[in-house]
Amino acid sequence: MSRRTNRVQRKVRVPSSKRKKANTTKVEKPGEIPCGISSCDGFADKHKGGRSLSQENAIDTWGEGTFSVRKNRVRVCKGCYKAWKKDNKDDTSSHY
Ligand SMILES: [Zn+2]
Repeated sequence: MSRRTNRVQRKVRVPSSKRKKANTTKVEKPGEIPCGISSCDGFADKHKGGRSLSQENAIDTWGEGTFSVRKNRVRVCKGCYKAWKKDNKDDTSSHY
């Protein structure tokens, strides 16, 4: 090891006791609307890509009684919406 590095390292060193952590903790906005599918623990918030389906749509894919309904709609998270869409894509791809 050469001594030349000593100078450089001094600059990088930060006393660990001085860590700023008081009010800077980043609070990520948690989901507010839980996914309606009972086997799923995702969130159906709009900012998380959630959607709402009709009860019939939900029954088609997940079956009756496996989801909760809000105002006649079933709120689903992004992942569940994708799953539903996959299940119902006969509109778009039956031509092939
Ligand atoms: Zn879900």
